[in-house]
Formats: sequence, C-alpha cells, structure tokens
Amino acid sequence: MSNESFTERDYTIVSALALNYSSAYYVDFDADEIHPYRISDVIEQQSGSYFRSKPKYWDAITTYIERNTAPEDKEELLKVVSYENLCRELKDKKMFMYDYRVLRNGRTEYYRMKVANVTEGEGLHKAVMGFADISTQKTKDIERYAYYSVITGGYNYNRFKEELSKRTEKGALTAMDIYAFKIVNSTCGVQKGDEALKAAWRCIVDSIDEDDYAAHINADHFVIFFSDTDHDSINRKLALITERLEAMSKEMEIPRMSPYFGTAEWEPGDLPEQIYGNATFAKHSIKGDSSRNYAYYSKEDSDKIMLAKQMEDAFEGALANREFEVWFQPKYNPGGNELMGAEALVRWRKDGKLVSPGLFIPVFEKNGMIRRLDEYVFRSVCCQQKKWKEQGMSMIPVSVNISRVSLYFQNVVETYKNILDEYDIQPQLIPLEITESAAVANAEIKALTDKFFNMGFSLHMDDFGTGYSSLSSLNQMHFNTLKLDKSIIDYIGNYGGDKLLEHTIALAKDLGLHVTAEGVENETQINFLKELHCDSIQGYYFSKPLPLDEFTERLGSRSAVFEESVSDKNGNMESCNIREVVDEAIAAAAPYVKARVREFNFNTTPFTDMIYINRESVKELLKSIIELTADKVSGDGSVLFIVSEVSVPDMPYVSYKFVAVGINAHGSYSDINSIMRSDPRIAVAQKLVGMLGGSIIGEMEDNKDLDIVVRLPFKKADQPAAEAVSVE
Ligand code: C2E
Ligand code: MG
Ligand code: MG
Repeated sequence: MSNESFTERDYTIVSALALNYSSAYYVDFDADEIHPYRISDVIEQQSGSYFRSKPKYWDAITTYIERNTAPEDKEELLKVVSYENLCRELKDKKMFMYDYRVLRNGRTEYYRMKVANVTEGEGLHKAVMGFADISTQKTKDIERYAYYSVITGGYNYNRFKEELSKRTEKGALTAMDIYAFKIVNSTCGVQKGDEALKAAWRCIVDSIDEDDYAAHINADHFVIFFSDTDHDSINRKLALITERLEAMSKEMEIPRMSPYFGTAEWEPGDLPEQIYGNATFAKHSIKGDSSRNYAYYSKEDSDKIMLAKQMEDAFEGALANREFEVWFQPKYNPGGNELMGAEALVRWRKDGKLVSPGLFIPVFEKNGMIRRLDEYVFRSVCCQQKKWKEQGMSMIPVSVNISRVSLYFQNVVETYKNILDEYDIQPQLIPLEITESAAVANAEIKALTDKFFNMGFSLHMDDFGTGYSSLSSLNQMHFNTLKLDKSIIDYIGNYGGDKLLEHTIALAKDLGLHVTAEGVENETQINFLKELHCDSIQGYYFSKPLPLDEFTERLGSRSAVFEESVSDKNGNMESCNIREVVDEAIAAAAPYVKARVREFNFNTTPFTDMIYINRESVKELLKSIIELTADKVSGDGSVLFIVSEVSVPDMPYVSYKFVAVGINAHGSYSDINSIMRSDPRIAVAQKLVGMLGGSIIGEMEDNKDLDIVVRLPFKKADQPAAEAVSVE
C-alpha cells in the first residue's frame, strides 16, 4: 500500500473489512485512484496484476464489473459505483452496502459490496471498498424465502408439498379461503390485512393436531393437511378454525373473517397440485351457499361440472343445428280409449345419442339458457299444432313445460303470446306446465300467472306433491289443472298414500281443477285413479313419450274413435252457445234478480261460446244460483257471470270450462260468506255445483267487484252431470 494519504485509521478500517471480505480496496476519489489492500484469489487469477498496476478508480471498477458481474446486474452496478451515486448514498451515513451477482464457471454466486466513507470532514473523498462472496448466506435466505411464508412466518406451499411427499399414509387436503378478505385490506389497510392473515394462520395452527400441518399459499389462501380422513374429525377442526377466526376478527376490530373450506382425499403418490385442485374445486362449489362453509370433493361432482361445462359450450350450436327434438307423451282418459292431450318433452340428440332432459335441463336452468330452450320448445309445438290443423288432424292440447327461470325473464307472457299469434294458435291448445315449486304464491308469480290467464293460457301445476303442495296457491293463481307427480302416484297401494291421494284429488276437484296423474305404470294405479275420478292419465302404462311421427299416428287414429263415440252418445250431448244459455238463465231467474244483471265476459276466440254440455243443465244451474243468492244482494248489488276459459271445439269429452257467477258487486266478501253459511238454500246451490264437479269459492282478486265465484269445470257430456242438476 503505497499511498501516503492512507492513514493509520484507514488502515485499521481496511484491515477490519478485509477480515470479512475477500477483496478490500482503498479509494481516493480526489486522486481518482483505487489501491488493493487484498485481492481475492479468484480475481487475482483472472486479472493478474491489472488492479495493482492500473489504479484509476473508474477504469478499475468498470473493468472489474465487466469481467465478473452477471450480465443482468452490470448496468445497475455501474450506476451504483459511480462517484455521484456513492456521494448520494453516503451523504448521511458512513456505510453503504449493495448485493449483486457474479457469474463464475457457469454458476451464479452472490457478492456483497460494502463502501465505507473514511473521509475526515464533509463529503466523499476517501473510502474503503470491500467485496465478499455471500453465496452461502444468500442461498439460505433464498431457501427461507422459498419455504416460508413472508406474511405468516409459517410454511409456504413449496414446503407444504415437500412435506406431503414425505408422507407414507393417506390423509386429507383442505383448501381454505376467507370470504370477502378484500374488505379487510380495503377498509383497514394492507398492513392490518397482513396482520389479520398472520392471526388467521395462528387460528389454523392452534386448531389442528400435531400430525396435521398447514401452509399459507398466497393472499387469503391457506392449505391444511389432515393426517386422517374422517369427515367428522376434520369438520370439528374446521369448525374450530371458523370459530377462532371469527372471534379473532372481533378482537382485532376488523370486518368478520369467515373461512370456507374444500377438502379432497390424498394418497401417497398423488400429485399435490392435482389434489389441491380437487380441494379448491370442492371449495368453489359452496361459494354463495350460506348453509355450510365446507365441502368434500367427489369425482362424480367434478365429472358433473365438466359435463355441464361441455353442455353449456355446446348449447348455441345445438340450438342452431336443431339438435333439440320435441317428443310427445300422450295423456289418456283413465279408460285409456281417449287421447285427451299430450305433454311436449324435449330431448337432445347429441353426437347421435338421445340425452334425457333430466341431464341438461338443470344445467340450463342454472345459467339461464333454459329460457331460450323453453321458448324453442313452445315455438316448435305451436308450429306443430299449426301443421296438424292444416292436415285436418284433431286438435288436442299439447302442454309445454316452462321453467321457473324462464318465468322471471322480462316480457315472457308477451313473448309467448306473440309466438302463438305468429302461428295463429289458440292459447288453450298449448297449456303451460309450471312446477309446483316455481308456483309458490308470491306477488311476482301471481301477477305473471294472472297475465298468462288473461291472455287465455291454461296453466297446469306440474309435479304436485314434490314441493309444498299448497292447494291455496293453486287456487289463487288460476291453475286449471293439477298434475300429480309420479312420486305420489307410487304411493298407491299404501294406506297413507291412498288416503293422501283421495283427499288431494277430492280437494283439487272441489277447487274446480282438472286432475292429471303422472307416471302411472300399472293397472292397480289406473283402477285406483279411475275410482277417484282422476281426469287424465299420463304414464308408461298407456304410453312413453313418443317421437313426432309415432305421436302423429296416434293423433290420426284418435279422430276415428272420436267420431264413433260422438254418434254413440249423441243423445246425451248437445253443443250450445253459452251466451244464449246464460241469457236464458238470466231471463228465467229475472224475478229473483234484485238490481241489475251484469254482462258476462268470455273469451273472444271463435269457439269459446260453444260448450258441449246439456244446455238445460247449465241453465238450471245458473238459474238456481241466481235464485238462491240474488235476493241476498243488498242495495244496488248485482249478479255477474263470467265464462272464462273454454276448451277447443274438437274436445267434447274434456271441456275445462268455467262458469263463474258472482253476486253482490258492492257487498263485502265476509258479508256474503256469512249469508251463505246461514242460508240453507246456499247449501243446495253448493251441492248442485259440486255435482257438476265445481265449487263455490271466495274472492277472485283480479275482479274487485266480484265477491263470490262459482268455478264450474264442465264434465264430460257422457257423465250423468246433466241429469243430476235439478233445483230442489
Ligand atoms: P315432467 O314435466 O314432470 O315430465 C314428466 C316426466 O316423467 C318425463 O320425463 C316423462 O318421460 C316421465 N314419465 C312419464 N310417465 C312415466 C312413467 O310412467 N314412469 C316413469 N318412470 N317416468 C315417466 P322426461 O321426459 O325425462 O322429463 C323430465 C323433466 O324434464 C320433466 O318433468 C320436465 O320437468 C323437464 N322437461 C322436459 N322437457 C322440458 C322443456 O322443454 N322445458 C323445461 N323447462 N323442462 C322440461
Ligand atoms: Mg311437465
Ligand atoms: Mg311432472
């Protein structure tokens, strides 16, 4: 060390530094010189006497960087060692440190540069620079980084996987997430968020067994390995974590942190990523489900989701390629000799195979695609009805299913009505089946069914017996047919089941509803349903759903049967103009009508004023009702008839016609009700109505003036209803 300005003190510093550093230099910035105190063997080998013979600072340092530093660090290091930068760094402190990488023999090594300002007084004039190989320490740091979570200090995912690979027995892997953790970060700040995660980590660690272990993956994602696979034991621990986490958030005064978990089984040899993926999959399956915060992975669930995804992707194409086919399941009278209607059931011809709706409808209901499919089926049926009409086939109602999801789309009623108009089809020809569970009487559904009803649609309540089985919602919502679900038909033969059906059917009929039994498969069921006067049967016993051509064939043969039976029973039956009948009834009852008789409304479709029933029976019935109730009308009360819903002319056997008679336009319902209860003659009227299969009910909400309504579904003309009507 030849430099004179190198003082005793500098010497001490350099020697001190040299203890830890493989190379140490004394720098005199004023003279632009750098003097090696110690040069590491490696540098010595590479550079020979270069650094000893060429002491210019900038020249030496850039040469050093050029020869040793890893390419990606060169530029930055050159900036760092510039005199200007060192002045900045050493302005307020005596020591400055910088780590960089060196590429040696194809290996990366880590070096640390330390610069000590040894200037006496202000500024940077003299310094000691040391360079040390810190690869060993750095590798340790990196390892630490690689195996531990910076936030929690516990294992990270890498370490988790490594530990997992050491396991020799099976266990369970749980993925954990925290609901709306973002809120903690955004309302309390990221630092608090990190503290919360650290605390969450503690909650996990405190709740699991010694044999279990956990890791923090990133953000609010954790993973836990349970060394046993028993669900109860795992659930207990998960519940404990949940409890602790929620209590902890309270203590920390942060928004409540609620975890949710997905668990998948792990066996030695399984890929951790795969199992973690399964656990995550299970975890996602509960998002938005407030009833539970954990789920277990099952292969079937995941296959289902995959299949659902495939179906979703294929939907548009399938619709465009007309892969959806409409099949028809006939509805027969219990005797089985009269085809009374059908239900349109969709099938998907996918890759040459027929897929049943049970597989795809729930998928399309979940994502809303069902609306398009329902509309497609409805349109197809309209189009088909039109074709049958043009072919001179008999017209029978073919019901279509309308999913709950479709009901909630805007303008659904108008859309359906427009489609009907497009094909010039009567709404009665395409009843809408709404499942019982969709028809829970809420204001929205009620308004919707009112709208459908007012446009002339018939509504069938589907799958009755699978939901709440609320007859009251049936009554409030203009359903005219009750479809008993297969699950209750299957009860036939069991005492309780028989009773249930007996009462359900009786009650439904009392409410003026037509009853269809679904899923009827054997003779015992048929006989029982016949006895209960069930109106129609849809089930494999008579027919499975049929493709279009087979069903058309049945429809064709129906006409012949029909002609025959008409001529057979002609004596019993007469078609009449309902307006005429009602007019006659009013005239006959005139002496009893106190104030005025209101106009009656009826559907204005061409055939609605035709009714296939004995004219006298209708007239008598109406007359007796007027007679029995009109003189109870107070003040300027009135009598009102409503003929709502009339079936198609081609269907003499099943006329679901309702004749409604209202009285006392301005009296209250309870008044009328009490009059009715106290007057024995009302009971007679009720009996009459009952004989015709109708019932007297109260309050028709969409007509405020109407207090009492008699709903009267006309029976088949060949039944003795006509004879039964007589005023006692
Ligand atoms: P759903 O409306 O209750 O239709 C009756 C289902 O019962 C049909 O099944 C029919 O084939 C079946 N079935 C009829 N009789 C019997 C029988 O005697 N035994 C047995 N085991 N089953 C019988 P499918 O065609 O598989 O339809 C299943 C469900 O898919 C339907 O139940 C309906 O809810 C829905 N669906 C079908 N087509 C459509 C559609 O176009 N739109 C909507 N939204 N849903 C549809
Ligand atoms: Mg149905
Ligand atoms: Mg059904």
